[in-house]
Amino acid sequence: MKLTGKIIIALIAGAIVGLLLNIFAPDAYNVLDPYLFTPLGRIFLNLISMLVVPIVFLSIILGAAGLGDPKKLGRIGLKTVSYFLITTTIAIVIGLSIASIAQPGKAGDFDTKNAEFTAEKAPPVGETLLNIIPKNPLEAMTQGNMLQIIAFALFIGLALTALGEKTKGLLNLVEQGNEVMMYLVGFVMKFAPYGTFGLLASAIGSQGLSAIKAMGVYMICVLAALFIHGALTYGGTILLLAKKSPLWFFKNFAPAMSVAFSTSSSNATLPLSMEVAQNRLNVPKSVSSFVQPLGATINMDGTAIMQGVATVFIAQVYNVDLTMGELTTVVLTAVLASIGTAGVPGVGLIMLAMVLSSVGLPVEGVGLILGIDRILDMTRTAINISGDAACAVYVAETEKKRTIKAQRTGA
Ligand code: ASP
Repeated sequence: MKLTGKIIIALIAGAIVGLLLNIFAPDAYNVLDPYLFTPLGRIFLNLISMLVVPIVFLSIILGAAGLGDPKKLGRIGLKTVSYFLITTTIAIVIGLSIASIAQPGKAGDFDTKNAEFTAEKAPPVGETLLNIIPKNPLEAMTQGNMLQIIAFALFIGLALTALGEKTKGLLNLVEQGNEVMMYLVGFVMKFAPYGTFGLLASAIGSQGLSAIKAMGVYMICVLAALFIHGALTYGGTILLLAKKSPLWFFKNFAPAMSVAFSTSSSNATLPLSMEVAQNRLNVPKSVSSFVQPLGATINMDGTAIMQGVATVFIAQVYNVDLTMGELTTVVLTAVLASIGTAGVPGVGLIMLAMVLSSVGLPVEGVGLILGIDRILDMTRTAINISGDAACAVYVAETEKKRTIKAQRTGA
């Protein structure tokens, strides 16, 4: 059976086992989770996370060296960042609109007195941008600071291009290192079905069903907005900008989406989503290795959607009417917040705290959605990485056309 099929079966089996234990045997869950589910999930997560920094580093060097001229890199960079900013704005507007129409905050009585949440400090955007050039590249790698690793790798890639023949040996070495890492992705993915089973059983088993029921309308709003964004924005990108079939895109990208779903981490899924984009969606290495790692950090449309719905939900629960000006502030803060935060589980809640305080809403409101956020985190992470891949396909296709056109006019 193909790996995708196995992963999807493991996802479903994990969810069913978790759910059954949660309803009928919570004590058995408490015994099984620390000895079976969590270890299975953790081993898989560690295996795949182990590859993230070397893959990003090596493949961006190759990508930059492969693109050759810095002008092309600049053009692709501009296209990528504009795409990310525009789609994130669309995402949050969809989230805000759906929540304003469906009014999830009016759908029940929510206990605001016991809601608690202490916000961790999110990095200020200006600071993140200034720090893109790492003072110490090794520190950037040990801390997994994606933007800094990307910047350092770009410099090396450009230098390798400039030095040409002189550094051919080093370029070969990087190429071979990248081969080894990609081979390991395939190897590690053999464990994916067991890992996804453990992650799902653990996550679903620990969720209180009553919490899910109370938050039903909110959850439906987030899920509907994620679906609409995936179908219209990414479907539209693939159909209209890349001139390909959206069905082809989602069918081929499904394995990466299911791993994102089980790990709730764009960063951890990066090795696989790059492999899938390069081998199944025909995105050249040079484009994929630049667009996708950048996207894993700065592009989180699913997270932006959650923030839109959650802000309106919390405002409704606390009986606050948001003005048009405040809604615009929400959009701007959410877009900027996503630039500075890494794609790891639960980071969306930290960003949400930032968004809430930008319009004077109580940060404790996050406490209301805390209990059910894990399930939504899984779904929005799958959307987050699909946005990066859709962008990679769009950039790859438009670049391909450009090259063909240039060749024709040159001929
Ligand atoms: N878990 C998400 C990601 O890694 C971020 C979030 O929404 O919390 O993309």
